[in-house]
Amino acid sequence: MSVAFQDGDELRELYRELIIDHAKSPRHFGKIDAATHSAEGINPLCGDKLTLYFDVDSNDRIRDARFEGSGCAISVASASLLTETVIGLDTKRALRFFATMVNRLAGRTDERQPDADEIDEIDLGKLRALEGVKEYPSRVKCATLAWHALSAALKRKAEPVSTE
Ligand code: ZN
Repeated sequence: MSVAFQDGDELRELYRELIIDHAKSPRHFGKIDAATHSAEGINPLCGDKLTLYFDVDSNDRIRDARFEGSGCAISVASASLLTETVIGLDTKRALRFFATMVNRLAGRTDERQPDADEIDEIDLGKLRALEGVKEYPSRVKCATLAWHALSAALKRKAEPVSTE
């Protein structure tokens, strides 16, 4: 007789492994020297400090995305997953991912609320792994930090963003 996992448990374990993997071996870690857009994100609550760099072409497509800095496993994994997600997207779509992630994780956003159609249209894919932090409200800011920096960078805000 074998022990059957509940689907939920199995998925949770896969997501946990995905986050650990991205935290240990962050993808696209480093700086883009000739970045067209960049922004720093600071989460004083946890001590996460990340800078995101983007190379956006003349058609508004994100050619490359990188990040550097230091932070907890959740913040680093989130930034790593972000870079994987947005490379190849146009900036408008990348910002939709931002709005969707902040909505899903924090249940609110200071950005314009995208309508339900826009949110449903986004397939979060691997990013669903981050949704588990909803159960730990103090970690939500760790998970959304990189996304706020993405938004700030693409909207060319000069000030560093803080989750506070
Ligand atoms: Zn953190």
